[in-house]
Order: sequence, then C-alpha cells, then structure tokens
Amino acid sequence: MELANRVKTLTPSSTLAISAKAKELKQQGYDVIGLGVGEPDFNTPDYVIRAAEKAMKDGMTKYTPSGGINGLKQAIIHKFKDENELSYSADEIVVTTGAKHALYTLFQVILNNDDEVIIPAPYWVSYPEQVKLAGGKPVIVDASEDNEFKITPSQLEQAITEKTKAIVINSPSNPTGMMYNRDELAKIGEICAKHNIVIVSDEIYEKLIYTEDKHVSIASLSDKLKQQTIVINGVSKSHAMTGWRIGYAAGDAKIIKAMTSLASQSTSNPTSIAQYAALAAYEETDTETLSNMKKVFSERLEILYELLVEIPGIKCVKPKGAFYLFPNVKEAALINGYNNVDEWVTALLEEENVALVPGSGFGSPDNVRLSYAAATDLLKEAAKRIKRFVENHR
Ligand code: PLP
Repeated sequence: MELANRVKTLTPSSTLAISAKAKELKQQGYDVIGLGVGEPDFNTPDYVIRAAEKAMKDGMTKYTPSGGINGLKQAIIHKFKDENELSYSADEIVVTTGAKHALYTLFQVILNNDDEVIIPAPYWVSYPEQVKLAGGKPVIVDASEDNEFKITPSQLEQAITEKTKAIVINSPSNPTGMMYNRDELAKIGEICAKHNIVIVSDEIYEKLIYTEDKHVSIASLSDKLKQQTIVINGVSKSHAMTGWRIGYAAGDAKIIKAMTSLASQSTSNPTSIAQYAALAAYEETDTETLSNMKKVFSERLEILYELLVEIPGIKCVKPKGAFYLFPNVKEAALINGYNNVDEWVTALLEEENVALVPGSGFGSPDNVRLSYAAATDLLKEAAKRIKRFVENHR
C-alpha cells in the first residue's frame, strides 16, 4: 500500500532509535549504559501521584474541555505571572498532550505550504520534522560552537526571506544546554518584530538551570513581543512527569483557539487524570523534592563534564541548563580511525556498550548528546568506557 507523501520523508526520532538499539543489546545480555534518553530518572513526586489517585477516586475520569480543565489553565496563568512576568487570560492558554503536541498543533495551525521556519542548529530533533509535516520548510541556521551554540542577530537577518513565518527559540536548549540572555533575546526579538515573525519559544527546560543565569521568556520583553510569541512549556521535565503527557501553549487567542479546535478533532483532550496531576504539580509545589532533583542534576553535570573533557579529542561547551552534554568528538572519531561521528557512536555502542545519540539528528554531525538523567555511578562508568575506547583505538 502506498504511503502518503507527507510521511515519506519523515525521519524517526534519532533519540528513540538509539534507545531501541541499546534495549536490543541489553536483551541479549549485554551490560549497556544508555545515555540516550531525555527524561528525568526520578519518579514523579508523591504529592502529584496522590492528586492523580484522588482525581480517579473522585470520578474525574471523563472527557474534559479540549483545551484543558479551567483549574489547570488558572494554575498555568498564575505560574506565568509569578515566574515569567507574563499575564495571560484563559482563552490564551491551551493544555496539550505534552509539549511535543503543543508544538505539533502550533505548526499545523500557523503554517501554509512552503512557509519557512527558522530553526537554529543544533536543534531538538522534532522541530524540522513537525514543520515539514505541516507543509512548511525548515530553514536551518548553524549556531557556532564558539558562540555557545547561539545564533547571532546578523545570522538571523540573513536567514529571513519573504516566506519566513516563524522562528523556534529553545532556551535552555536540548541538546546543548545553552541559554540566551536578556540582551540576546531582545536583539532577536527586535528583528522578529520588524519582520512580523512568529516566535515559538520552547521553555520546557526553564526550571533546570545550574548557573547564576536567570531564565527569561522572550515574550516578557515587551507587549509587541508577547503578541508575537507563543510560549511552549509543560511539566514533563520540571516535575519528572514525562509519561503523563501534559504540556501547554500560551499566546494569541486566535492561534490558541485554532489549536484547541484541532485538538477537539484529533485527541479530544489531554488525559483527565494527568491534568489533575499537573494541577497539583503547580498548585502545591513541593520545592524540596524539586530542588533536590535539580541539585542532583547539577552535581552530575560537574562530574561528567570533568571526566569527558579530559578524554583526548573531546571538547565540550559547558552547558548551563537542561540535562544534556553535547561534546564535539570529531577529533576523537578521526584519531580512532572512523570516517565520521555516526560510525564512532555505533562502534562505541557495540564495543563498550555505551549508548550516546549522534549529533547528526540534531543538525550537528561533529557532536554527540549524552543525557545525565542517569545514576551518577553509571555516568562515571560510561565516561571510563568512552575513555578506554578512545585510547584503545589510537
Ligand atoms: N521540547 C524540547 C526541547 C524537548 O526536549 C522535549 C522533550 O524531549 C519536548 C519539547 C517535549 O516535551 P513533552 O514530554 O512535554 O512532550
């Protein structure tokens, strides 16, 4: 049977592909360390689980409004006000089945065929694919490693054409962990405002920052930028709730209404119970559990970073947030006699049973992504194996 054209060029998620290969080796009895996944290894906090249990017992197991229950929308509105200096009304918020689906529906409702979306590379694997699925054209702008993987205003100016509809800003970033500061965002915002470009601001890692730097939402910089920005966020990473699938989008009421209509004809609504869990996550915030999670991530980052940069041929821009390291391993791959980093990653998995994600899937073929959302001992062992691999192949 012939597939539709729209899925013929669809690339499956490279992060999921490496996890599948690692799982296969594990099933064959190999001692695999998987650093591919992008989810906290912590369990969802107890108070959130208790709220979900209560919701089930109270009969909150029916369809909900497509855009989410009002209580959760109100909690999201409070969160924006308290934490991001942003004031929204309920018709400017839509709750979705994870932030990924917020992005998916957003591109569906704003893009016409051949509309261009500027995506700075390295990028999260799903952005270009979701843009293509909506008929749009991803325009990749390479952010230089020397500029901490951030695009410059002049790079942005050069990438803009008459067809530019939107830009994706992901700060803190997956896969690099880099962050734009207020000034940098203001400059990007000014250019977007001048050219009427929609800013898709993916802020899902906002809570996971390990330096003194403060997260700034580009939407909070001016009224004009607020009107032009759709903020994407969710509880997956902030509250260790990846499996619950609750995300949201905030912005222009017309766009939010269209996203809600699309949901009403596709998913109907995000899972009712998960919405009550997310409501508790925001309303009752157990700061101790969350700050402990952040502290552990921060310690792991220090440990893994130090171990990696001492390996010959590996260079790494030190991330500020999220839970990934994105070292450049091209030199190591070449020293080891491989043609490219993809081959090096495959050999490392087969020989030392360490699963990393090749940077090619993130638009940055000289790098690899390691997630430190794994136990500290495993991270140390992984670094030891990578070092051994690099040294054995010299
Ligand atoms: N945006 C980025 C940058 C991500 O890394 C992820 C998850 O990996 C998402 C969005 C999606 O998050 P969710 O689990 O809420 O769909």
